[in-house]
Amino acid sequence: MKTVGYAAHSPTSGLEPYEFSRRELRGNDVAIEILYSGICHSDLHTVHGDWGEQPYPLIPGHEIIGKVIDVGPEVKKYKVGDSVGVGCMVDSCQTCDQCHNHEEQYCREGMTATYGSEDRITGEITQGGYSKHIVAREEFVLKISDKLDISKAAPILCAGITTYSPLKTWNVKKGTRVGVIGLGGLGHMAVKLASAMGAEVTVISRSTDKEKEAKAIGGKAILSSRDESALEAAASSFDLIIDTVPVKHDFDTYTPLLDIDGTHVIVGQVGEMDEPVTAPLIMGRRRIAGSLIGGIKETQEVLDFCAEHNIHPDCEVIKPEQINEAWDKLQKENPSHRYVIDMTNLKVS
Ligand SMILES: [Zn+2]
Ligand SMILES: [Zn+2]
Repeated sequence: MKTVGYAAHSPTSGLEPYEFSRRELRGNDVAIEILYSGICHSDLHTVHGDWGEQPYPLIPGHEIIGKVIDVGPEVKKYKVGDSVGVGCMVDSCQTCDQCHNHEEQYCREGMTATYGSEDRITGEITQGGYSKHIVAREEFVLKISDKLDISKAAPILCAGITTYSPLKTWNVKKGTRVGVIGLGGLGHMAVKLASAMGAEVTVISRSTDKEKEAKAIGGKAILSSRDESALEAAASSFDLIIDTVPVKHDFDTYTPLLDIDGTHVIVGQVGEMDEPVTAPLIMGRRRIAGSLIGGIKETQEVLDFCAEHNIHPDCEVIKPEQINEAWDKLQKENPSHRYVIDMTNLKVS
C-alpha cells in the first residue's frame, strides 16, 4: 500500500514528507488509516540518535489512533470501520514467559518497536505513526471506546500506559500517597490516573509555579524540590514516587520523601544518573525501580479506564506541517500537555 509520512533522514535533518509503502496484509494483519498521532519525547531522543544509531529514513510515532480500513482473512477481533489504536510495540515472540504473562514489553527476544525495529518476518524497518497508514498484527491493535474523544486519546497509548503500569504494579488505591515528579506529558497523565484511582497525589516540581495546573487535574498539593524546609516537612510521606523527568537528575533529593517500603519508579529513559546515597535506601527499605510502558492487555485496560473515568490527556492538536516546530518547543520547554498531529488531511499523492 502506497502511503505518506513525515520522516527524518538523519539525526539532524528534521522531519519532512516522505512517500513509502506499507506491507501487503498478512493473514492476521489489520490495515489502519491513521487519524491522530501523538508526539512523545522519546520520538525526539530516538531520531536524534541519543539512544543509539538509527536506520534512516525513519518515521517516528507510537501513539496512534485510527480507523480499520482492511483486515487479513484470519483477523477475528476487528472489522472495517472500527476505531483502533497502536502503541509502542507491533510484535513480540508470543511464546516466551513474558509474552504469555501479557508483558510483551519485556519479551525475552525483545519486542518489535512500532518504529525503527526490524520486522520479525521480513527484516524490514518498522515505521511509525507520523503517517497516513499503518499495518499491524491484530494482537498489537487496541480497541478504542466510543466514549473517548479520538482527537485526544492517542497519548494514552504511551504516556498513559507508561504511568498506569507502575501505579498498578505498586498497587495504588484509595488513600495511597503518590508523588509525581515533573508535570510534562507523562507527569500530567500520572496525576490524572492516580487521582482517579483514589490516591492522594502531590506534584513534585522545581517550583510551585504549576500549582494551579496540578490542582486542576486532580493533584492535592505541589512540593518544590528546591525548598529545603518543604522537603524536610514532607519526609517519609510517600508510598510511591513516579519519576517522569526526561533529563539527568539526582535520586537523593527524593529518597527521604519515601515512607518505609516506598518505591521511586523511573519511567523516562534518561541515560546515566549519579550514584544514589545508599543510607536512606537501607534505613527505610526504600527502593529505586524502573518500569517500561506496559503489556498489550494492560494498555487495553488503561484505554478502558480512561473511557470509564472520562480521562483525556491534555492535548494541543497540530497540523503535520507543524511537527518540526512542535519538536523544537518540546525540546526547549517541558509543556504539561501533549502535541497530537491531526493526520486527517494528509493526502497520499
Ligand atoms: Zn512514548
Ligand atoms: Zn516473548
